[in-house]
Amino acid sequence: MKTLETLEFINRYSRLPQEFYSRQAVAPLAGLRWLTGSPAAAALLDLDVEQFKRRDIADLIGGSSSWVGTNPLAMVYSGHQFGGYTPRLGDGRGLLLGEVQNTKGEVWDVHLKGAGPTPYSRMGDGRAVLRSSIREYLCSESLAALGVPTTRALGLLGSDEPVYRETEERGAMLIRIAKTHVRFGHFEYFYYSQQHELLKQLAEFCLETYFSHFTSLSLPYEAMFAEIVERTAKMIAYWQAYGFCHGVMNTDNFSILGDTFDFGPFAFLDDYDPRFVCNHSDSQGRYAFYRQPSIAYWNLQCLAQALTPIIEMEGLRKGLESFEPILVREFSELMRRRLGLPEFTESDHEMLKAWLQLLATNKMDYTLAFRWLGEVRPGRRPEKLRSEFMQLPEFDTWLEQYQHRLKGQDWDQRQQLMNAVNPHYVIRNYLLQEAIEKAELGDISEVERLFLIMQKPFDEQPEFLKYAKRPPQWGKSLEISCSS
Ligand code: AMP
Ligand code: MG
Ligand code: MG
Repeated sequence: MKTLETLEFINRYSRLPQEFYSRQAVAPLAGLRWLTGSPAAAALLDLDVEQFKRRDIADLIGGSSSWVGTNPLAMVYSGHQFGGYTPRLGDGRGLLLGEVQNTKGEVWDVHLKGAGPTPYSRMGDGRAVLRSSIREYLCSESLAALGVPTTRALGLLGSDEPVYRETEERGAMLIRIAKTHVRFGHFEYFYYSQQHELLKQLAEFCLETYFSHFTSLSLPYEAMFAEIVERTAKMIAYWQAYGFCHGVMNTDNFSILGDTFDFGPFAFLDDYDPRFVCNHSDSQGRYAFYRQPSIAYWNLQCLAQALTPIIEMEGLRKGLESFEPILVREFSELMRRRLGLPEFTESDHEMLKAWLQLLATNKMDYTLAFRWLGEVRPGRRPEKLRSEFMQLPEFDTWLEQYQHRLKGQDWDQRQQLMNAVNPHYVIRNYLLQEAIEKAELGDISEVERLFLIMQKPFDEQPEFLKYAKRPPQWGKSLEISCSS
């Protein structure tokens, strides 16, 4: 274990030329205080999260004896937002504090979201509210526990400072940990602003920093692009397999390392509805659940365009072409495990399609349907699951086919394997809403409880069974917008 004072900051990004960022000090919030943190995320930095409780946090992040080795900066980038290009975005309210090397030799970005205005704030106030910070804190750590590639959240900080959104809320900060904060939009910024020398410098930085295993190849940038495509496809396979809707799949919210990035109006599906749009501001349904794969591909095409001064057309085309086969392969593998199948054949694809169709027409809860499917045994009907379906003849027909497919299995072992990949708990929006309402009244205990439950999403946890339930009526119609 290290202490906050002995962390080794190596701050590679800050050695890039000044066109890449603006140095910016943290603007503290009134009454800033530590609320809660993730032991698992702190461990990535070799830290015990308890240390943050003992340290004056306002002093640590911006005070007179602030975190030694940090070098706060706001990155510049741009991006395609809802299909249209915005020439300049950048960190409008977050700062990269620095990069920490842990004892395993891994390097992690330490980023503070809600740190005050920067040259890229445009009309914004540079702040994040408690509500959205709780959402990011709980969702990113929940995804990590599910095994989904994601940025992490180390700690949640509250304050007394009023911040105005639709109503008056309280300002907060989030300490985000990530392998990188370089987004597709970083490349687009230098490409569209005609700064191609800097674009090359960015590519070189990424190659050496994140893709150094390719530096000795004859076409290292092609390999780098191919890996970005691969990582993105894998991330999307997880989203689709676990029913995660991102909500704002703009190119500035896509990490070049394929981690789920930027938690705004996200949602886990409750009822299985492929057309579900989690972002209330997305009136066109551009980022509907079923569109996520094609939007990710669209984003990769944007990145490819920005890389045309560096990579030959043919190399970019080859990279892009690998997206679909990788996505299908990864998604099939995840669904094979979710269905408890020994392998995934052509006819299993048909069976999966029919299952999803049944879930959709019967408005079945996506998470519970898979969990309960594990209870199927030969010659015995899974009553809990079956009672949820309106179309019983169709369900029984499908079930017969499924039981037949699994003949000769060790059924208990199969259920164990399924339970290890089919979560009992996911961080549903109604659960978040309840935790937020309490936290806004000064009680963080529900946030901490949800955190603990979601650390072990595959375990039954008898004392918390109600947290696995489908949402109550009010929890189905929550309107989550971009406002954060
Ligand atoms: P997002 O919708 O979260 O992807 O953010 C899009 C852009 O708006 C990014 O450049 C953010 O840094 C910026 N932004 C979002 N909220 C604020 C805010 N409250 N103050 C300043 N900039 C913001
Ligand atoms: Mg963003
Ligand atoms: Mg955001």
